[in-house]
Amino acid sequence: MNVIESQPYKLLIGECWREGGEGRTFDTLNPATAQVLAQVHEATEEDVDAAVLAAHEAYQKHWSKTNPAQRGRLLRRLAELFERDREKIAWIETLNVGKPITHSLESLKAMPSSLAYFAGIIPAVRGETIPVASHDVLNYTLREPLGVCALIMPWNYPMTLTVNKLAPALAAGNTVILKPSEVTPLSTMALARLFEEAGFPPGVVNVVNGPGATVGERLVTHPLVSRVSFTGGTVTGARILASTASDVKRVTLELGGKSPLIVFDDAALDKAVAVAAGDLIKNSGQVCIACTRLLVQETVRDEFLGRLQTRLEAVRVGSPEDPATDMGPLVSATQKQRVEEYIRIAENEGARPVQYGAVEGAAAAGFFVRPTLLLDSAADMRSAQEEIFGPVQSVISFRDESQALHLANQSRYGLAAVLFTRDGGRALRMARGIQSGSVAINTGVRTSFDAPFGGYKQSGIGKERGLEAIYENTQLKNVKYDMSE
Ligand code: NAD
Repeated sequence: MNVIESQPYKLLIGECWREGGEGRTFDTLNPATAQVLAQVHEATEEDVDAAVLAAHEAYQKHWSKTNPAQRGRLLRRLAELFERDREKIAWIETLNVGKPITHSLESLKAMPSSLAYFAGIIPAVRGETIPVASHDVLNYTLREPLGVCALIMPWNYPMTLTVNKLAPALAAGNTVILKPSEVTPLSTMALARLFEEAGFPPGVVNVVNGPGATVGERLVTHPLVSRVSFTGGTVTGARILASTASDVKRVTLELGGKSPLIVFDDAALDKAVAVAAGDLIKNSGQVCIACTRLLVQETVRDEFLGRLQTRLEAVRVGSPEDPATDMGPLVSATQKQRVEEYIRIAENEGARPVQYGAVEGAAAAGFFVRPTLLLDSAADMRSAQEEIFGPVQSVISFRDESQALHLANQSRYGLAAVLFTRDGGRALRMARGIQSGSVAINTGVRTSFDAPFGGYKQSGIGKERGLEAIYENTQLKNVKYDMSE
């Protein structure tokens, strides 16, 4: 399937597909081959300003005046078009991100339902009347959109993260500017083609491409942008918080993680092994909620590790285009260097890195790293504290429940946690004590569009997905009316 369009890819600003103002382009690669996949126009600061203006005008002229049924109809139409093009978009993600095709297809399966879900909850975006003390006063609330939203994405799940930000933003009545990662912009460009076909008025959705330091920074600091929803690294998130502070913008931050997977001695071990291995392999470990700290009770450590190692030995690392591949490359040379550097750091700190599986054939030209366990890790090692964002897990032992809870919370992050135990009381005590935005018991953390998601501590601010995403995309006005006049 030929899924790459004629190039260089243009920017979508208002009703126009435009070249970047200075005609500059940048390359985006296929990480499995390290070859250039496509060229993309880079936005200038003036292009960003034009996109914000287009979004602002569309908000003022049309979108803020649409009713729930109109917005719902357009989102449902977009869902149908997405379903039609899902396979094509999955192939683009496989070529541009390096995800095995089976995983790309699977990860996009829920996107039409996500769009339809937010179309469906639009009627729930409403205020209430409040029975205040005075009988003569009518007091009520209006839930209103914020205006222009900047949606900034990382490279690891370009499409799912875009859809999960876009759908509630539009449903709530905002207009948006999408800023995909400069590393993996292509699937967002395929999505951008669908808005016009679905019938969205020009300017409701705009797309600008380019580096975060210029294009991203200009976007988040533009005075007409009233909300920023950012997913990416914690350092970048903190910077965005600082750059938007003087204008007191609404900011939602979905940031990094170092999530624990806690295995007690009464766990369903095979299920725990499947979740641990899945988190190591899926998208080459480049998943914000991946459990990268395996906390295993001493009494089952050897048994658990034996089974996990057997599973990992069978992992097929290779071309993401091959449906038999379990794990593809990392996204870039930079990411590969970073992961390899952390494996060296772990070794110097006294952990024992062991790699599993084998990189197959011609695929070796790309940015591949085999699944790696850091055996004999200690919780305070840098490799067990800092986000590596690759196929690497620290293995740490614990004695009892209280030590498990202490180790689980010994992190600056608080995105997710998984625990395996058949003791219901212990599961609930742990779920209450763990400082993270998501906890999964006897299963893996799988985010879904209809349940709230967001981090504690340095993993973020605010929630996306579910009804909470609508609250993040709206502001509440209180009105009172003295009826005695
Ligand atoms: P990143 O922070 O380097 O970049 C993310 C996006 O921000 C890119 O589009 C980039 O161009 C832009 N950006 C960079 N500097 C900017 C600035 N000053 N102003 C505005 N925009 C700017 O992250 P990444 O390397 O693309 O992604 C990996 C990170 O994303 C990991 O830390 C991972 O944990 C995190 N992540 C979090 C979640 C979550 O839901 N919590 C999901 C996926 C990924």
